[in-house]
Amino acid sequence: MNIYDMTYQKLCDFLTEHGDKKSRAEIILSALYRNGISDLSLIEIPEKAKKLITDNFEIPTIECIDVSDGGTAVKYLFRLNDGNLVETVLMRHEYGASVCVSTQAGCNMGCKFCRSGRLRKIRNLTAGEIVQQVLYINRKTPLSGISVMGIGEPLDNFENVLDFVDIMLYPKGLALAPRRITVSTCGLVPQIEKLTEMHFPSNLAVSLHAPNNELRSELMPINKKYPLEVLMPAVTEFSEKLNKRVALEYVMIKGVNDSEKCAEELCRLIGESNCYVNIIRYNSSEGDIYECSDFEQIMRFYDVLKKNNIGVTMRREMGSSVNAACGQLRSDYIN
Ligand code: SF4
Repeated sequence: MNIYDMTYQKLCDFLTEHGDKKSRAEIILSALYRNGISDLSLIEIPEKAKKLITDNFEIPTIECIDVSDGGTAVKYLFRLNDGNLVETVLMRHEYGASVCVSTQAGCNMGCKFCRSGRLRKIRNLTAGEIVQQVLYINRKTPLSGISVMGIGEPLDNFENVLDFVDIMLYPKGLALAPRRITVSTCGLVPQIEKLTEMHFPSNLAVSLHAPNNELRSELMPINKKYPLEVLMPAVTEFSEKLNKRVALEYVMIKGVNDSEKCAEELCRLIGESNCYVNIIRYNSSEGDIYECSDFEQIMRFYDVLKKNNIGVTMRREMGSSVNAACGQLRSDYIN
């Protein structure tokens, strides 16, 4: 088993089921996350306990096979134990660094504007494989935030993503503050409802990208299953019950979703809910059917939201220099 798959609770259960003390879980996880050990036999616990751990767990490798450094964003291409490739992006901000991790090899959601979506899902990543992306980068650049927005639909790998968040928050491990983690979804409503029920501690972002069903279904097939009249109440409930603002991600695609009419529809859709819009420049590359909206049009769109008192942020053009839109580097390798 991959030791990084283990949450504190899972490790406690394993230890007690095997006749050991659960108090060792804290020592083991601190050694891994605080001291950064890369050899399980170096953990300072009695020999018998050490044998139990080394007989049952390993630290699998995650091999970095390419890095493209674009200044504010650095993209890492990793090869997993079974040869599958995933990408992770380090983003440098004025206030620190954050990382965007992948949760699946490929993705089944088929969003039309996303190159990752053209590669069908091969498998879910384990919690440990997501953890290892963070650890690899954190060793070089200490991280202050994590976006779960790389390749894959995070909520389609629900249990492993929840374990991943749990591991990141564990107080004797990396001990990230819950608000430092944002999990994104293209709109899987039952899973959003589960997050609300379980009082998910971290943030939620929803990839919206269109203000009406007709356009959204065209861009994102998931909208046919969970249309806006089902999605938005689930998002609002999450926001109200957990008292959190939800980010609605909106990628600007020229002539498709960037008109002032679309902006007005978006304002009506958001209404009084506690959501804000995060405008993202579309990151096009060769062979794409879409291109990014002109800057002037993006500003007109932005102004409509502002005039209607909708919270709006605009991402810096992160990643464009390293082709960092969803899945682009990886698909360059696979195709
Ligand atoms: S945008 Fe996200 S959910 Fe949609 S296909 Fe790409 S990786 Fe999957």
